[in-house]
Amino acid sequence: MIFRTRFAPSPTGPLHLGHAYSALLAYDLARRHDGEFLLRIEDIDQSRAKAVWEQQIYDDLSWLGLRWETPVLRQSDNLATYSVALDELWKRGLLYPCYCKRRDIREAAAAPQEGAPLLGPDGIIYPGTCRTLPRDPNAPLPDNTALRLDLEAVKQVISGPLAFEETGDVLQAETTPHPDVADLQQSVGDVVVSRRDMGTSYHLSVVLDDAHQGITHVVRGKDLYDATPIHVLLQKLLDLPTPSYFHHRLIRDDKGKRLAKRDDARALSKFRAEGATPDDIRRMVGLLPS
Ligand code: GLU
Ligand code: ZN
Repeated sequence: MIFRTRFAPSPTGPLHLGHAYSALLAYDLARRHDGEFLLRIEDIDQSRAKAVWEQQIYDDLSWLGLRWETPVLRQSDNLATYSVALDELWKRGLLYPCYCKRRDIREAAAAPQEGAPLLGPDGIIYPGTCRTLPRDPNAPLPDNTALRLDLEAVKQVISGPLAFEETGDVLQAETTPHPDVADLQQSVGDVVVSRRDMGTSYHLSVVLDDAHQGITHVVRGKDLYDATPIHVLLQKLLDLPTPSYFHHRLIRDDKGKRLAKRDDARALSKFRAEGATPDDIRRMVGLLPS
């Protein structure tokens, strides 16, 4: 099996130091293993993705000295793959349409008898309002609405811990044992696998694309660690391999705050315009020169 890593940015803003760290780690890891480094443009949110940002991703990464396999996978070109998977899950009775608005969910979750709304990695934990509506898995997949994974039904087909190999910066002490589906019901709730108007979601597309691209080692920020059991669950349901995961530390600004896309002060293009070299960037994020 070829050792393969990837970098999967969303073209919704400039790449900053945190992205550079992630991309360089994935690239260096692939090189150390005589493997391949792939790039994927995560542009399912067409309301936010912009061609100029995509172009800047290529420019910034080339400038950093990275080379990647071609063709680059762009998620917006891969929507058919997502709908095949959704169809399959729907036919197996594992999905249901959700018609709730954000506000409905907030209100239902905060109903007096429920106490304060619980927060999971996807935001407020969905209280299951639409799970009990009638649905017919023999009818076509409902379109134009969000689809959620019915974890109650999933529990009947998937048992045991949603385990994966962690090879990165997440210390044993920071982690709880791998959750099972019942734990996910508590901590995440019925996950959205297809957002309205999008035909997919981050979780579904990332899982299908990592499999499609034959990724053996996923390198990404520690902030996504809690999403990984959701990905392992989707891999099990869709009969896809589970890669190894390397969740890396997050690059923070001088005040210890996590860098966000809007922190243009940390944009790679800015350092570059100011005369920094790719090795300067490597040093800034704590990596050895190339
Ligand atoms: N597109 C995601 C981001 O830019 C990365 C997802 C992943 O690496 O799994 O945060
Ligand atoms: Zn709903």
